[in-house]
Amino acid sequence: MTARLALPGFVNAHSHAFQRAMRGQVEGGDFWTWRDVMLGHARGLTPDTVRRDYSETYREMREAGYTAVGEFHYVGLAEAGAAVEAAREAGVELVLLLAAYGRGGLDRFRQDSAAAYLEEVESLRAGGGRVGVAPHSVRACPREWLEEIGRYADGEGLALHVHADEQPREIEECLAEHRLRPIELLAETGCLGPRTTVVHATHADGRELDLLAESGSRVCLCPTTEANLGDGFPPLDDLLGRGIPLCIGSDSNVRIDPLEELREIEGTARRQALRRNVVPPERLLEIGSREGAAALGLDSWPGIGIDLSHASLRSVERDDVPAALVHGCGADVVTA
Ligand SMILES: [Zn+2]
Repeated sequence: MTARLALPGFVNAHSHAFQRAMRGQVEGGDFWTWRDVMLGHARGLTPDTVRRDYSETYREMREAGYTAVGEFHYVGLAEAGAAVEAAREAGVELVLLLAAYGRGGLDRFRQDSAAAYLEEVESLRAGGGRVGVAPHSVRACPREWLEEIGRYADGEGLALHVHADEQPREIEECLAEHRLRPIELLAETGCLGPRTTVVHATHADGRELDLLAESGSRVCLCPTTEANLGDGFPPLDDLLGRGIPLCIGSDSNVRIDPLEELREIEGTARRQALRRNVVPPERLLEIGSREGAAALGLDSWPGIGIDLSHASLRSVERDDVPAALVHGCGADVVTA
């Protein structure tokens, strides 16, 4: 019998499954020109293509060890239902993080009002799906939308996910409009708290990180995507120093490998701190699993196995397996 180590499944707290179609494409000189190409892909989606393509992407995630996924969804209500079906077909636990989009982007992303958005959330909840609210960003959501959605999430006890501080331009625009940085605006509008996950926080300053820590909010890091898009390095020392809970996401799905996301976190932390073992391996594995489940409001999710006879683990002592996983293995060590 093959030696197998049982572990909690990895949890992918931030995915845009349709962006998997862009893997291998190198168009776009920076984030903003990449975004133009991405919008072109989003334009052509239908419920049928979502069900087919997402189920293949979710299967790829399941094989890589992600057994639960937070799909940050901004391409339409009918397509949200199709994403839920795709996840069921692929055998992953899905939490549909329905995005509120008040301005910018494409027609299909936007709702007419925050109230219309919350009606969409209610309709998905009535269908029995696990749902979280997701004001897309301070770019896409005016202040009143953030206030209304923050109030609703708080009243209903729902997870709230929001992109913030991924790119310097977003911060400059937020300062120009509100005289506040993005996470300061989220704090003022009631969008921070223990059920909140801020995605990226790459360029958050000390004051913004204090607000996250004081409110008990989390940060979802998506290192392979943040590298691919030239976003920058997360302020790991400052995040860890404040005890801000972290989780991971495959985001644009340029790469689907939880061990690589975790390795990137520790590799970045080591380069920044000029020392080793900044985040111990067992803690990294929790960031990749339990912390992601907490970010999605999941109490239970399927486990996975690690193939201890895999070539990547040859001659590794049993006690050293967690460290070998995060520093020396890829997702192909995962078995059912
Ligand atoms: Zn995202």
